[in-house]
Amino acid sequence: MEERLDEVAQGSLSWTDLLNEFYTEFSGTLVQAANDGPDGMQPNDPTPTGIPCGDCGRPMQIRTASTGVFMGCSGYSLPPKERCKNTVNLIPGDEAISVDADDEAESRLLLSKRRCGKCHTAMDSYLIDESRKLHVCGSNPDCDGYEVEQGQFRIKGYDGPVIECDKCGADMQLKTGRFGKYFGCTESSCTNTRKLLRSGEVAPPKMDPVPMPELQCVKVEDHYVLRDGASGIFLAASQFPRHRETRPPFVDELLPHQAEIDPKHHYLFDAPRVDDQGNRSQIRYSRKTKEQYVMSERDGKPSGWRALFADGLWVEEGTAKKAKAKRKAKPKTKSKAKAKAKAAPKSDASEVSAADESVD
Ligand SMILES: [Zn+2]
Ligand SMILES: [Zn+2]
Ligand SMILES: [Zn+2]
Repeated sequence: MEERLDEVAQGSLSWTDLLNEFYTEFSGTLVQAANDGPDGMQPNDPTPTGIPCGDCGRPMQIRTASTGVFMGCSGYSLPPKERCKNTVNLIPGDEAISVDADDEAESRLLLSKRRCGKCHTAMDSYLIDESRKLHVCGSNPDCDGYEVEQGQFRIKGYDGPVIECDKCGADMQLKTGRFGKYFGCTESSCTNTRKLLRSGEVAPPKMDPVPMPELQCVKVEDHYVLRDGASGIFLAASQFPRHRETRPPFVDELLPHQAEIDPKHHYLFDAPRVDDQGNRSQIRYSRKTKEQYVMSERDGKPSGWRALFADGLWVEEGTAKKAKAKRKAKPKTKSKAKAKAKAAPKSDASEVSAADESVD
């Protein structure tokens, strides 16, 4: 640790990196220690706390799930009529720092982990909200020791204020999900979420779905709405997910709805509407470049033509002509035999789709 501190002093290592490194090692040791306990794993009993439930006032309990530690209302085990299903996400303490903390205070906080008052094991800390931190005994659930610390905390990586839900106006709470941190609406009937970007900023609000009653679904009796997802825009049955039908939109299908579509997608209106053979172009998303592009299909397979948006312009690539596939089968490479062996097991169609996958 000492030498590493010198590296920090010399500026070659950031505080945060060092602390993350240290914490990862340290928490690993803790987990190991817990597993080595003499009586092995105990049944996962919830730990009662004196923290009142925000919905019903009954005491909350500390629970451990495969996804981590969270608090659930003790009213959960009551009969259905009185049952309270309230849960509170706990943000791991290494994500939380005091509002007025400098870098050194942050390290002191981490190095001086609290010890359990009951069994003296080091405690793990979690942020309940901006003013409360929960310290849970590292031997939980075997030991039910816990402490609540009052203070003013903020989340590392997010300096901004509490944000208001852009759909319903309620407060949004920072949560940690499988795909990183995000804000979730605290209003239980509202499912709105917004991602916390790596830059520490909150992702822009998602576009409201645009009804397209003129576009009928194929497999179900329903019409499409245009939705905005993590992988760009797509058409989904209006009663999705009850009707599980989705498909990519054709460029020309967007044009009657320009006024309803979020400005961030307006560049799509200028995309070519057809390929070089007159096939309609459709909007796809490339996971590689994280950008939307347009392509065309022939007999349900990628035609080999596509257009990408670069520096404010749409640039077409490839051709939908049949001749292209033939030309591809005889590439002008130095080692003809090698190329032939590679191309041989593939049909024209699979070759084209493989080419498309390289974009995807
Ligand atoms: Zn409750
Ligand atoms: Zn303990
Ligand atoms: Zn909301």
